[in-house]
Amino acid sequence: MNSIKSVVLNISIQLFISLVFVLIAFYESKIPGILLNLTPYLFYAISALILWVSWHFNRNRFIFIIVPLLLINLGFEYLDAKKATNLFLYVSVLYPLHLLLFLSLRERGLFSIWGILKILFFLLEIGAVSYFIAYPNSDLIAFFKMKFFMASFYPLQDLSVAVAIFVLFIISILLMFSRYLLYNGSFLVIAITFYAGFYFVREPHANELSMLAIGIIVFILLIRESYRLAFYDELTSLPGRRALVEDMAKLGMKYSLAMIDIDHFKKFNDTYGHDTGDEVLKMVASKLANIGGGGKAYRYGGEEFVLLFPSKDADESYTHTDILRDTIAKSPFSVRNKNSSKTIYINISSGVVQKSSKDKDPFAVMKRADNALYKAKKAGRNQVIKA
Ligand code: GH3
Ligand code: MG
Ligand code: MG
Repeated sequence: MNSIKSVVLNISIQLFISLVFVLIAFYESKIPGILLNLTPYLFYAISALILWVSWHFNRNRFIFIIVPLLLINLGFEYLDAKKATNLFLYVSVLYPLHLLLFLSLRERGLFSIWGILKILFFLLEIGAVSYFIAYPNSDLIAFFKMKFFMASFYPLQDLSVAVAIFVLFIISILLMFSRYLLYNGSFLVIAITFYAGFYFVREPHANELSMLAIGIIVFILLIRESYRLAFYDELTSLPGRRALVEDMAKLGMKYSLAMIDIDHFKKFNDTYGHDTGDEVLKMVASKLANIGGGGKAYRYGGEEFVLLFPSKDADESYTHTDILRDTIAKSPFSVRNKNSSKTIYINISSGVVQKSSKDKDPFAVMKRADNALYKAKKAGRNQVIKA
């Protein structure tokens, strides 16, 4: 499937970025010092960008990932050696847990009840870490330095390694079983990059470089997320009308288009409720997404969809659209009421056209497809008509 491919590509890019920064850290003698000295500033700059964009797109999860790293970075830079060592000790255990927590919490407005609880929790974390840096407690430090592995992972303590195993294990499980593939995959890469920076912290720039790598990874994720928000429909995950218009502008002289509308959907909504209607839209969209013949599906609006067939003529597109119509008509959909369950069938009608030289723009093609769709409705629905 297309989206799996794109997630795998995205995660590979992130891993590649992470790897490049590890290599820079190892071969830093070959890199001009002036560039390496820029690392913290680049990290601050990209963090500022991330905060600004996350704020505007209401993606506050990213704020909670980047701000702790900023604080850690500032701590390493300005605290004395003993305090910085304790900061390292605490956050090497806390940050991955923090990452896992904020990965699993749902995205809400920053000033909703949940958002405020998140902020309070985060302030509590900062308060606790700052307190125990200012007033180190020997019992707590002994706890963080507890030994339970045979091997040593110095400078990481055993507790931090145990947490690493736990966090990486949980995220891997999420990666296998949850539908938020991209987020889980990215958080896995972020966690690994964080540990790499901490493990090699004695290399002069390793930690700063790992944070910069995380900054870049988060920024790319955010860009992709904004793109998805702009071009993809929330309910069905299909690209929306804006994406359709963009894609049509890119097409060549030869292409076909199918306009699709669900039959009697209003009656369906009235009988079974709007939520069940939404489920039907998702079901239909998932069938449309698997259209053959190189076609691509879009949610045009409401219960109307469009299929674009680049470089296909009307006959080929008709064949694929009619196979789809038949598949949907034969797919049972079960509606659950209070205690009964009922199986129903959904039908779609469609009008297919091929772009002709008379169509002066993509909208003219759509208009003709819409007319053909209207004929399909008039002719009794559950059919495809080729103009
Ligand atoms: P026809 O066979 O002629 O297309 O009949 P119809 O009832 O499907 O026609 P119409 O276009 O008038 O009805 C569309 C309905 O789709 C109206 C609206 O309630 C419903 N609808 C539009 N968008 C959504 C949505 O996002 N969710 C749900 N549940 N219903 C939607
Ligand atoms: Mg309609
Ligand atoms: Mg309809």
